[in-house]
Amino acid sequence: MTIPTFKLNDGNEIPSFGFGTFQIPADGSTYQAVKEALAAGYRHIDTAVAYFNEQEVGQAIKDSGIPRDQIWVTSKLWLQDFAYADAKQAIDLSLQKLGLDYVDLYLIHQPYGKVADAWRAMEEAQQAGKIRSIGVSNMTPKIWQKFVPNFDVVPAVNQVEFNPYFQQKGIRQIMAKDGVALEAWAPLGQGNADLLKEPVLTKMAEKYGKNAGQIILRFEHQEGVIVFPKSVHEDRIKGNQDIFDFELNSAEMDQLRALDKGKGMHDPDAPGVEEMLSKYDVHVND
Ligand code: NDP
Repeated sequence: MTIPTFKLNDGNEIPSFGFGTFQIPADGSTYQAVKEALAAGYRHIDTAVAYFNEQEVGQAIKDSGIPRDQIWVTSKLWLQDFAYADAKQAIDLSLQKLGLDYVDLYLIHQPYGKVADAWRAMEEAQQAGKIRSIGVSNMTPKIWQKFVPNFDVVPAVNQVEFNPYFQQKGIRQIMAKDGVALEAWAPLGQGNADLLKEPVLTKMAEKYGKNAGQIILRFEHQEGVIVFPKSVHEDRIKGNQDIFDFELNSAEMDQLRALDKGKGMHDPDAPGVEEMLSKYDVHVND
């Protein structure tokens, strides 16, 4: 099976479908899950310094024997490392943990504090060939306007919470002006049972011989959104990517667009979020 790619605004081609690794522990589970995903045909892995599992992601990639240039690897810089010199060091540490010479995409994980410094370090790492594409995450319209107009390089992506219940209409309009791709975190609503049981999804699932998760992921794909659902179960890892042999029609797309509640689980603009995230130490084990 060939996974389609989307072209980013910097010219790079990103596999539109990948594998997420948030909340998979580094006790062998990440290694096992990534190994299964790669064996099932995934060629895009999303990790982060803050997931503490880069090492296992890298080992699974290495042991797969798949040529490096056939796998898209994303990692993310944590806000504790946003000062310019710290960011440079953190990028090198990420590469070291992953056992890679470069990452395909590196993101500002949480957009608070010394974002401008961090971005400059990432632009330089891109020029040095350590990162192919650079992007941001969790940027709302308000946060975007605060930082992005001052960047030299426009982000290639913004990775935000996105699923049928939260379709991010506001930020998508802003991003569209610069051709910035949207990457979905929680593309399945982190397994939200209400979402997966929506009658409209059940009906479409019956029609196409798919499950609710596959309908959601297909909808997101047709919306031009890059997805990387996470699972530690081999049947789901295999099943989630089985979405490229059917197409939702425009009436069905509209029905799914109508599920939007305009609100997600996480509000990056909420008071106290920056303070809470700033307490998180990603170097506790270094
Ligand atoms: P997802 O929407 O991918 O949901 C994952 C959850 O859904 C898991 O509990 C999984 O359980 C379950 N699940 C997986 N497949 C199915 C299925 N077919 N039917 C029902 N349940 C299913 O949430 P994530 O938060 O993991 O988001 C995806 C990725 O996005 C992350 O892994 C991470 O890489 C990234 N991310 C980025 C963030 C950011 O701030 N930039 C924040 C959060 C995530 P099980 O494993 O038991 O199968």
